[in-house]
Amino acid sequence: MMSRQGMNRQDLAAEIVAVAQAIDKAGFCPSKSGNVSARTEGGFLVTPSGLPYARTTPDDLIELSLDGAVLSGERKPSSEWPFHAAIYRARPDAQAIVHTHSPRATALSSTRRGIPAFHYMIALCGGADVRCAEYATFGTPELAENAVRALEGRKAVLLANHGVIALGGSLAGAHQIVAEVENLAGQYLDILASGLEPVILDEAEMARVGAKFAGYGKVG
Ligand code: 13P
Ligand code: ZN
Repeated sequence: MMSRQGMNRQDLAAEIVAVAQAIDKAGFCPSKSGNVSARTEGGFLVTPSGLPYARTTPDDLIELSLDGAVLSGERKPSSEWPFHAAIYRARPDAQAIVHTHSPRATALSSTRRGIPAFHYMIALCGGADVRCAEYATFGTPELAENAVRALEGRKAVLLANHGVIALGGSLAGAHQIVAEVENLAGQYLDILASGLEPVILDEAEMARVGAKFAGYGKVG
């Protein structure tokens, strides 16, 4: 794949729109929720606020600097631009961010619990669990702060009573992680509903899995 620096705005914007339309088709964005961004040289390109994904084109995207100044684009940027900006500022490893309200992860987030290592695929999210960030109103700097804190050492986080954020080294990577979080959250909810107790994999095993993933390019 071409490096992000080598990719022009139109190609990057087209890739963002493709991911946004894919998460929408997967049912991860009820009532036009969610948003998608990718890092650029000057900041990041992000989807517009409230525009249905089926009608979004690459020209509708907005480029913002890391402190939220509009660099280009006509539309109103995603209301969640503060957490996109805060994550890019705090995490040099983040090249792309995908936010969804995918149904099962959002249901779990409303219990304000994260996802423990009941399955080894949790390692895709960067460590031995996915945390649930403290609640704050959508679009606020407080939510951005809470998300960055709960993302420490991780590539995914649940937002209490809200949804999911995943970051990646590429749009494909962030997309893969957000889909896996929905899968794992659904399985974890099924376990909780069964009344049975999952066996949680220990830190040493999760470290082994993490090392294996790093070795075969599993993580985006
Ligand atoms: P935007 O349409 O403004 O991106 O907001 C959607 C969302 O998920 C808010 O949390
Ligand atoms: Zn949201």
